[in-house]
Amino acid sequence: MYEYDLLVVGSANADLVIGVERRPGAGETVLGSDLAVHPGGKGANQAVAAARLGARTALLARVGEDDHGRLLLDSQRSAGVDTVGVLVGDVPTGVALITVDPSGDNSIVVSPGANGRLAPGDVRAAESLLHVSRVVSAQLEIPLETVQEVVRILPPETRFVLNPSPPRPLPREVLAACDPLIVNEHEAKVILGDAKAGDRPEDWARVLLAKGPRSVVVTLGAEGALVASAAGVQRVESVRVDAVDTTGAGDAFTAALAWRLGTGASLAEAAAYAARVGAAAVTRPGAQASYPTAAEVGAL
Ligand code: ADP
Repeated sequence: MYEYDLLVVGSANADLVIGVERRPGAGETVLGSDLAVHPGGKGANQAVAAARLGARTALLARVGEDDHGRLLLDSQRSAGVDTVGVLVGDVPTGVALITVDPSGDNSIVVSPGANGRLAPGDVRAAESLLHVSRVVSAQLEIPLETVQEVVRILPPETRFVLNPSPPRPLPREVLAACDPLIVNEHEAKVILGDAKAGDRPEDWARVLLAKGPRSVVVTLGAEGALVASAAGVQRVESVRVDAVDTTGAGDAFTAALAWRLGTGASLAEAAAYAARVGAAAVTRPGAQASYPTAAEVGAL
């Protein structure tokens, strides 16, 4: 009955990266390396991560009719993502202009472009995709109203997973739909807002859960993750690896978790699998280029 294990509703960006000796200040010009262009955006990353693991995956997103849009469509298709839901219009594809200095510190300017035009009406027009997907996953690099529309028309038997990144306070109806809400430490603090939650991630997880989600996952980088539901809070160990580049690890973790939940795994089981996927992703440079196959996760 289900055509897709995972439908990702989210952003697709071209990441334009230049290495520099020193990031420029106001009014300053510096020379940098050759330009590298990578497919990115949290939605596109999640879809590629899930498809590479073997999940039947579709992406609902917007790109422009330009080279960056074609790059993104190509990377989705070569990973095995169904791009039937990727809308191509006359607004330029979103881009992130990234300068990186030798210490790895970066400065980033994002032009949301077509991502900012993914509208509630696009979600309604794609309602049939929601009905044939076990799990729907979203992030916040698209308008919040669009995510709200997903939640409003979500079929009751379809599971909803949200990584609120970049973080902002969330309306009650969105929080209530999350199963789980997945946050890193920074996102947890923004969503908690004024709520007094102390310094312990276990307490953040409990207070976040009290805000309405059916379940919560707090990712803690090399420290693994915490899962929280009515059954309590549980720690999920990370896998010890030599980290090379953590870019996109959270997206891979979220995609893997969402997929496993749809196959019937418990929250703790799905998070343990996702931690292996996140660990594999940090052992290689880049975001989408670093995502493992199921066989590579098994061999970890
Ligand atoms: P984000 O990229 O959103 O900040 P995290 O850095 O918390 O997310 O990473 C997501 C998950 O990826 C972690 O919960 C963990 O399972 C895995 N992970 C990230 N960094 C490492 C690391 N250095 N070693 C092992 N696993 C890692």
